[in-house]
Amino acid sequence: MIAHNATETPNWSFHTDLEKIGWLTIHSPEGSVNTLSREAITELETLVGQFEALASSGQLVGVVLLSGKDSGFIAGADVSEFDTMSDPSVLTEALTRTHALFARIEKLPVPIVAGIHGFCLGGGLELALACHYRIAVNDEKTRIGFPEVNLGIFPGFGGTGRSIRQAGPVDAMQIMLTGKMLRAGAARGLNLVDKLVRHRDMLRWEGRKAVLQKRKSSEAGLVKRAVALPLVREAVANKMREQAGKKARKEHFPAPYALIDLFQKHGDDWKAMVRGEIDAFVPLMGSPTATNLRRVFFLSESLKKQGLKGAKFSRVHVIGAGVMGGDIAAWCAYRGMSVTLQDLDMERIKPALDRAKKLFSKRYKKRREVDAAMLRLSADPQGTGVARADVIIEAVVEKLEVKQAIFSGLEDKMKPGAIMATNTSSIELERIAEALKDPARLIGLHFFNPVAQLPLVEVIRSRFNSDEAIGKGASFAQAIGKSPVVVKSAPGFLVNRVLMPYMLGAVERVERGESKEVLDAAAVAFGMPMGPIELMDTVGLDVGKSVATELGHAVPEGSQFARLIAEGKLGRKSGEGFYKWENGKAVKGETPERDDLAKLGRELVKPLVDMTEVVVSEGVVASPDLADIGVIMGTGFAPFLGGPMKARADGRA
Ligand code: NAD
Repeated sequence: MIAHNATETPNWSFHTDLEKIGWLTIHSPEGSVNTLSREAITELETLVGQFEALASSGQLVGVVLLSGKDSGFIAGADVSEFDTMSDPSVLTEALTRTHALFARIEKLPVPIVAGIHGFCLGGGLELALACHYRIAVNDEKTRIGFPEVNLGIFPGFGGTGRSIRQAGPVDAMQIMLTGKMLRAGAARGLNLVDKLVRHRDMLRWEGRKAVLQKRKSSEAGLVKRAVALPLVREAVANKMREQAGKKARKEHFPAPYALIDLFQKHGDDWKAMVRGEIDAFVPLMGSPTATNLRRVFFLSESLKKQGLKGAKFSRVHVIGAGVMGGDIAAWCAYRGMSVTLQDLDMERIKPALDRAKKLFSKRYKKRREVDAAMLRLSADPQGTGVARADVIIEAVVEKLEVKQAIFSGLEDKMKPGAIMATNTSSIELERIAEALKDPARLIGLHFFNPVAQLPLVEVIRSRFNSDEAIGKGASFAQAIGKSPVVVKSAPGFLVNRVLMPYMLGAVERVERGESKEVLDAAAVAFGMPMGPIELMDTVGLDVGKSVATELGHAVPEGSQFARLIAEGKLGRKSGEGFYKWENGKAVKGETPERDDLAKLGRELVKPLVDMTEVVVSEGVVASPDLADIGVIMGTGFAPFLGGPMKARADGRA
């Protein structure tokens, strides 16, 4: 192909071909994904000037915008620049420039078409929405959405108005308020995308056709727009506030509420919405919530950088098919591993296979994917999978001698270099390892219940372990899509150690006659996802008691806690604990109105924060940052406070 008007910048390449079609490719200079950095935007300003000039002199019939990276189109604005943008005047200036640039793109006299594969998120989607037409690859990898709300902001490059223009107010607000990422078909259904193709290779051809045929996306129809008409808009906005309130309070997460206010003002006029966006957006960026959420984002990204480069895993053998072992095996198969699952007999493995099938059916769209995952998971009562496994995870009953016997029987049968891990919650690794010829092999991989939902895996390090063994453990956790935090082998590790004083403190208050409903509401008012009593019921009173005992907290004879356990009222799993449970939900009595809920919540959470400080000072986790991200991921601790250590440093816990 003969290229004309070729321009190469650090972030972009551009040339026109013989048909006068302009080909614009983004390729951020660093990292595997494209981001719309300030540098990329400045370069694009110059390029758009070139398009304008070429179009007016008849040398350009249209532009196709593609990504040069395999990972996808554009993952969003560059979050690492956000901290420097917290200054309102700097941010206003940057946003105003980007708004002006996107308006120029929209006004180009020739068609500009975005060809999307992989991630098209946040600022990337906003740029695509400023184009005249959007084509997306309809495969598993395409993800289209606005995740900004997870960072305490909302779309700020004109995406609020333009998404409403395309999808109508209800659907557009829904995707902005939830941060949900859509597949290509769903995005097409919402009119965020105009055309689907099967392969990335087809984007060029379809893009060319769209330019030559001057295709232009159509806006959402009147019916969709009707809910934003002045008479009904306030009621619609109030409904949205009510929905947002179920997920988070305004004082904790202001962004959704600010977006709804913007909608209430301008929801029937997408251009006015775009114009109002900057003023509503700017105060959010430097808010404590957004600052802390960015910190959490970077800490969780840093967890992905741990581990041993080049470590590969494909076969996992799990011993113990109970609550944890069964779910760990299912999760590993779901994430593409070949898994063998061992227990004393077939009878005990069967329920785990049934649960696995439920998980696969829920998570996969297609029947053949469910069948393929079931084929990856096999019952193995004889333990024949041991010899070939890259990773062996033991999750049998919490008894030292049983675990020791299992591991000493494994040592000579395992592949050299395979990971040998226990999921114990409370037994010191060194004691289990005593039975081994090579105690350095045994690490802990401590999963949380329910395995499919909780992202954290504590990688437990005994005093015998090498960096290599721990690095491998962390790599394995990543390979199955979990976030590893390395923790020293010490009673309760990190998460259980900090949770126990918090939960037991609340249980003691209930024993003294305080209302469990008030206590739970207070913790939620502080920012916890669930109150401590409801959490104890969810974990199971028997499990709670055994962890408490292990950590040296006695459950007094004659207490309500002891009585409930004796009566078999173990919480959610048995249908009753502190609460009665119906359809997976705690049945709660009236919660008396109180103004001091958040203050009470802070008192309740204090033991958790105190204990996190102790754990850090003892070196159980390597840094306050790791403690923060571990506790947020393991307990759901208020992420908008940045974690317990950060909240304490800020005087907020
Ligand atoms: P569980 O009682 O549900 O399951 C244990 C399984 O191990 C049973 O199916 C049992 O038949 C099997 N088993 C016992 N001896 C065996 C042997 N010699 N060979 C093969 N299988 C054998 O227990 P669980 O709740 O799944 O806990 C398992 C482990 O995970 C424990 O170490 C526990 O501390 C830990 N853990 C539990 C949780 C939790 O919330 N339940 C969370 C994290 C870690």
